Amino acid sequence: MAIGKDITRKLHELTDRDLTFMHICGTHEAAIARNGIRSVLPKNLKIVMGPGCPVCITPQGEIDAALELVEQDCIVATYGDLLRVPGSKGSLESSGGDVRVVQGVHKAVEIANSTDKEVVFISVGFETTAPTVAATILTNPPENFSILSCHRLVPPAMQWLLEQGEAKLHGFLLPGHVCTVMGYKEYLPFPVPQVVAGFEPDDILLGLLMLVEQVREGVARLDNAYPRAVSCEGNVKAQEMMYRVFEPCDVEWRGFPVIPKSGLRLKKEYEQYDAQKKFGIEFKHVGKHSACICDKVLRGIAQPSDCKLFGKVCTPRTPVGPCMVSHEGACKIWHMYQVKRT
Ligand code: SF4
Repeated sequence: MAIGKDITRKLHELTDRDLTFMHICGTHEAAIARNGIRSVLPKNLKIVMGPGCPVCITPQGEIDAALELVEQDCIVATYGDLLRVPGSKGSLESSGGDVRVVQGVHKAVEIANSTDKEVVFISVGFETTAPTVAATILTNPPENFSILSCHRLVPPAMQWLLEQGEAKLHGFLLPGHVCTVMGYKEYLPFPVPQVVAGFEPDDILLGLLMLVEQVREGVARLDNAYPRAVSCEGNVKAQEMMYRVFEPCDVEWRGFPVIPKSGLRLKKEYEQYDAQKKFGIEFKHVGKHSACICDKVLRGIAQPSDCKLFGKVCTPRTPVGPCMVSHEGACKIWHMYQVKRT
């Protein structure tokens, strides 16, 4: 606690201008909200959440694709968080199909081993989950198993955010979990201050302090404030496995246009496990038709409390957008911890 107090005091001493830093991780947002970190920061230091919730950034077209698989009489296996995310014709929960909540891809394979029906795993997540899915594909699961790959890669989204300049960011707190797997070499070319941070309150405060120090020094380097888990190279075996099975592809993110090479699709040699190919499913763009501003929240240009539906029409029991559904979504987290506008 004393460490946190010292860092907070230093942050107040050193933050001499308006600064906005973005983190890209639902776990960071939950830790920030749970520990009231925003309330102890200097008034001119703002931390916003970017596209760090894998369920939230999955666009409606991909939810519709999962619903199409239900219509084709597949058993759809997925994480609980995805169940209530609205597509254009309802959610997986309201679909009336055989939709099963699983803890991970291995459970979906177990289901496939126990039935003759087609089982499709809706495979969402960043570089943290993709290697496990790749490892499972490499075990030659049964023929009636496939995945709908909705994976995303973090660095191309950061590149997009920097190119657009919409959120006027002064730096990034990099996602500790993703960097544990991928290391941080891919982030080195970005011309802004960056700090890899862990998830304890002191880790986050230290990360912010290191960002402020870079701004004051007028430099843009990458510092690692989470060396107990993250190295520059990361988990090379996991990366090799991921790229043995998957290859990057251009995909849309919710709230973003198509971002080049920001998704992962199965390579040709594993296409028998690709549900899109197996069932002739296309990801279609679906326009936005509600007052939900998840798109802006995910780009760091709005806060959950800016949404006129927040806490009124839209609550965790009656979610309108994905950011209120997922436990990594900013709206659900703000609602849970009663975060006020910063
Ligand atoms: S409060 Fe609900 S409707 Fe508003 S941005 Fe969040 S998820 Fe969307």
